[in-house]
Amino acid sequence: MSNQKMKLAVLTSGGDSAGMNAVVRSVVKAGIMRGCETWIVREGYEGLVRGNTAPHKYHTDPPTVPSIAREAYAHAHHSNLLENLRFGDGDLLRDGTGDHPGGRTLKGRYIVRVGWDDVRGWFAQGGTLIGTARSTVFRTVEGRLKAAHNLIKEGIDAIVVCGGDGSLSGADVFRAEWPSHVATLLAQGAITPEQAEKHGHLRIAGLVGSIDNDMSMTDLTIGAVTALTRICEAVDNINSTAASHSRAFVLEVMGRHCGWLALMAGVSAGADFIFIPERPPKADPWEDEMCEEIQRHREVGKRKTIVIVAEGALDSNLQPIRADYIKDVLTERLGLDTRVTTLGHTQRGGKPCAYDRILPTLQGEEAVKALLESTPETPSYMIGVRENKITRVPLMEAVAMTREAGEAIAAKDFTKAMSLRDNEFHQSLEGFIATSILQKEPRLPKHQRMRVAIIHMGAPAGGMNAATRAAVRYCIRQGHHPIAVHNGFRGLLEDNVHELSWLGVDSWTARGGSELGTNRTLPSIDLGAVAARFQSHSFDGLMLIGGFEAFNALLILEGGRKAYPALNIPMVHLPATISNNVPMTEFSLGSDTSLNALVDACDSIKQSASASRNRVFVVETQGGKCGYIATMGALATGACLVYTPEHGISLDSLRDDVKFLKIRYGLDAKGHNEGRLVIRNESASNVYTTDVITKMLKEEGGELFDARSASLGHTLQGGIPSPMDRARAVRLSLRCMAFLEEHHHALQGQPGRVKHAPPASAAVITIQGSSIIWVPVRDMVEHADMANRRGKTVWWDEIRGLVNDLVGRSELLACG
Ligand code: ATP
Repeated sequence: MSNQKMKLAVLTSGGDSAGMNAVVRSVVKAGIMRGCETWIVREGYEGLVRGNTAPHKYHTDPPTVPSIAREAYAHAHHSNLLENLRFGDGDLLRDGTGDHPGGRTLKGRYIVRVGWDDVRGWFAQGGTLIGTARSTVFRTVEGRLKAAHNLIKEGIDAIVVCGGDGSLSGADVFRAEWPSHVATLLAQGAITPEQAEKHGHLRIAGLVGSIDNDMSMTDLTIGAVTALTRICEAVDNINSTAASHSRAFVLEVMGRHCGWLALMAGVSAGADFIFIPERPPKADPWEDEMCEEIQRHREVGKRKTIVIVAEGALDSNLQPIRADYIKDVLTERLGLDTRVTTLGHTQRGGKPCAYDRILPTLQGEEAVKALLESTPETPSYMIGVRENKITRVPLMEAVAMTREAGEAIAAKDFTKAMSLRDNEFHQSLEGFIATSILQKEPRLPKHQRMRVAIIHMGAPAGGMNAATRAAVRYCIRQGHHPIAVHNGFRGLLEDNVHELSWLGVDSWTARGGSELGTNRTLPSIDLGAVAARFQSHSFDGLMLIGGFEAFNALLILEGGRKAYPALNIPMVHLPATISNNVPMTEFSLGSDTSLNALVDACDSIKQSASASRNRVFVVETQGGKCGYIATMGALATGACLVYTPEHGISLDSLRDDVKFLKIRYGLDAKGHNEGRLVIRNESASNVYTTDVITKMLKEEGGELFDARSASLGHTLQGGIPSPMDRARAVRLSLRCMAFLEEHHHALQGQPGRVKHAPPASAAVITIQGSSIIWVPVRDMVEHADMANRRGKTVWWDEIRGLVNDLVGRSELLACG
């Protein structure tokens, strides 16, 4: 079968999750870009079984377009995109069932051909606009036979299913039975021999849409991060009232067989105790363990108590642990004024966070590729993600492994259940224990204890405070002394230094900005004096949290070791910057918070841009000479153009961009107001500034579109850090502490009074693919573009191409 002919349908099934609309958008757009005909199935498998009882009604004429777009149509014989533009006006699916201009209607139709513009603007909407259902009839062979017939009648040969493990099991059963359904339909005379031959093989790909993050063989499911965001918002809100009244709150969150949401909320929102299905409390009775822990927190002065319980939490005898019962225990045994909050369906709702726009976009594209490459011999794939890479795994293997975890819990084999969870789950659990459990006695003997200095550097970034809190609590647990250096190296020279306490950092997870104070002053301001302060405060280890400055500072400190013995201590840099410009690491703390701030701002801007008239907004982002935020922001907001310092801006490219916008606005359905975004990094060009580009677009847009600009500036530093940044901060911070301990121990083992710290003991913690890798700061230099303050290579470079593809830039330009 040639790719040109693939007819591809996408459906959403099972419980809804944020990001499902982004899946549909991505599959439709990627499908059209790759020459497919695209369809949606309404109401999940139920719609597949019901099929179509009414005839198609499509727009058949191109919209009345100005000359530049007419020209595009005239040359459009080979453009699948232009061919597909006429199938959608963006309103039909959004409205559900009503009649529309052009005679389009959804009445009597569950399997609907859709075009490019039908999925326009779907990013910002939660849930699923094409509907979802739990279908009992699809669980029967008869139901699936009907579904097969309906697909063949419409000529569809490939489907993308987005749902949980049940939905993906259904997909696999359907594909396995497909040849027998075709044979039955042929024997019944329901399809012709030609149809039977053409549809001998059904191509299926699965995307995991589930808020629980309960699928094995993928790190994250679509909608999980948004649900976690809703939970953290709730805990952050509850925290203030809990502290005001010195109350305890028990929060029940979703997760029948998987404790990911409860665990990650516990880590990122700073709970006192959590209950998850795969790891029941060790003590029997568990009530003692919980009460002792919470009592200890109260004794050090905590005024509030937060307990998070997954809806499927169990004790070691498989008895459910219920929120109401926990409340009774806290009230009766500790005398706490305790309330229960069940978050329920609020966790599913709301608009998708940046991650739940980016992940489904990348996975939808991969699903289309997998389907085009599929043969009767290849398995059905589930599209997953491992660390930062989109993956394909055999769908049934993933479903079987997911079931295994549930079965292990049911068999009380909690060790096995935990072994089926990924690294992040384990590290997060360690993180929760290290940051929330208050040790009675320090764990290390006196001679192994350190005085650890913590310094923030550069601009504030989400997660800096959460990382500091984790470091402080880990230090106290071990017996180290966590020393805050306020206001960076300037503060150090002024002896603005004090020891932090367990309680003092309690509420820092949810705080944006920098609690320690930060600036860009490098230690080179007076390296000798800096070293003298290291000596006078007896620092045994240093943790620098910041961006490119922090990297530079570490380089200077390491270089000063020969001259200043006090600098011969282990030193780490934990990258934290919204620009994400530290070389070699794929993510820095703060970059996720910043993306979310950008997405929120752009949603509002786009709404305003569409409301008034056709308007292009040129949005300027921070990021220095690094285009990460601009590029990923463009992907997450559906921007139609992106300008970055890496690629620069030329007159030729601007001319093409103007032409592209004219063609695109010219092709919009009549009567539509459409807002479009152009994202420009602040340093993309010295000449073609945001102002120049805006004026140029305004001038050139004429009757077609207007242009305005908006500068997001410091709003991109974000207010409250995102849960992803908080959780990442905890994981990385604890690794930094372990690094300091290890190198401190090695230095202690050196003979003599004067110690020589090896180069490897001054390092940057980096995330590279699925690993956390320590890079000695010296080695980092060769990977850094020091002049432009960014890495020499970046992993996200190809995203720019995808941004262009998803708006059809090249294809429209080729036609125009
Ligand atoms: P969630 O994570 O929200 O529960 P899910 O996809 O696991 O999502 P289910 O209700 O288990 O939700 O499955 C959704 C639909 O998939 C079912 O209503 C049914 O139509 C279909 N389905 C599930 N399992 C099978 C199966 N073994 N055979 C055929 N169809 C199935």
